[in-house]
Amino acid sequence: WPPRGPPHPRSPPKFNHFSLSHFQQTLKISSKSCFMNSILQCLSNTHSLRDYCLHNSHRRDLNNNSRTNTALMEEFAKLIQTMWTSSSSEAVSPSEFKTQIQRYAPRFVGYNQQDAQEFLRFLLDGLHNEVNRVTVRPRGTVEDFDHLPDEEKGKKMWSKYLEREDSKIVDLFVGQLKSSLTCSHCGFCSTVFDPFWDLSLPIAKKGYGEVSLMDCMRLFTKEDVLDGDEKPTCYRCKARRRCTKKFTIQKFPKILVLHLKRFSEARRTSKLSTFVNFPMKDLDLREFASDNSINAVYNLYAVSNHSGTTMGGHYTAYCRNPNSGEWYTFNDSRFHSTYVRCFYLCCFLSWSQGSQ
Ligand SMILES: [Zn+2]
Repeated sequence: WPPRGPPHPRSPPKFNHFSLSHFQQTLKISSKSCFMNSILQCLSNTHSLRDYCLHNSHRRDLNNNSRTNTALMEEFAKLIQTMWTSSSSEAVSPSEFKTQIQRYAPRFVGYNQQDAQEFLRFLLDGLHNEVNRVTVRPRGTVEDFDHLPDEEKGKKMWSKYLEREDSKIVDLFVGQLKSSLTCSHCGFCSTVFDPFWDLSLPIAKKGYGEVSLMDCMRLFTKEDVLDGDEKPTCYRCKARRRCTKKFTIQKFPKILVLHLKRFSEARRTSKLSTFVNFPMKDLDLREFASDNSINAVYNLYAVSNHSGTTMGGHYTAYCRNPNSGEWYTFNDSRFHSTYVRCFYLCCFLSWSQGSQ
């Protein structure tokens, strides 16, 4: 293990809880980058991620082997610190952070409308790489866990994942999805376990009117029949068979990001405006767990909301302040308190287990 001290000799800024501004500052961002603004607000209201930055805990984890030289995490942390400790009433300008994100992901250069969910994935991936506790990844070995019971196989697959990808970001955002394939001929069931950073939910349709988030989750985890050209090869029959496929959640992340697939596959041509209803508190997802005994109750704390059409839309954020528990709307550099009841066109929601 190489030493992982702070990359710069400066002493970390002194931070104490009582100097925290009650409200975080808004960001000075062009309205064409509203996707970025909306995601940054959601992340800055993510309690444990915010504190990770405020307490400079990220410094311990900064991985100097990272190809981006840890600048993205540094600028992200600085931005969060400024947002939460600035006493000025001016909106905070994230220009240095933007320089870094653009270096890391050049597709976010310029100020075109971007998909907020895509941006979130890129940003979390970038931050994760810079604070990955794994500095030397083990060589890939092919190990077969198929003889193990599912529960154990899932655990083995998870520790194999952690051997390569292990960071504060993973601790918070990554869960594990189980996909089971059952042969309709012999009944053999094979399972695959994959890590996930968010779940993209199809929007359930129920004629007209509204659907619930649970309907979307049920549609996502619904048993699917693979037949015809899609027939997989059954391991036991050694032949292509009609199979059923089903997703369950093997491991719930601390923070669950749900993305509602509002845009059609042929991207940006149409947007579904079905009203999706969801609770603000106690979203109980146990019925989607591989093992129903695990705790999977979430409370909503952040929403990145897309309004308008696929051609010219606008992102805003609704976040619950982790200090006060109050909800605020963030729209470009303005914010105001809001009474959140429902969102017509939300694109993603972040949930946390317990009280964040
Ligand atoms: Zn079979």
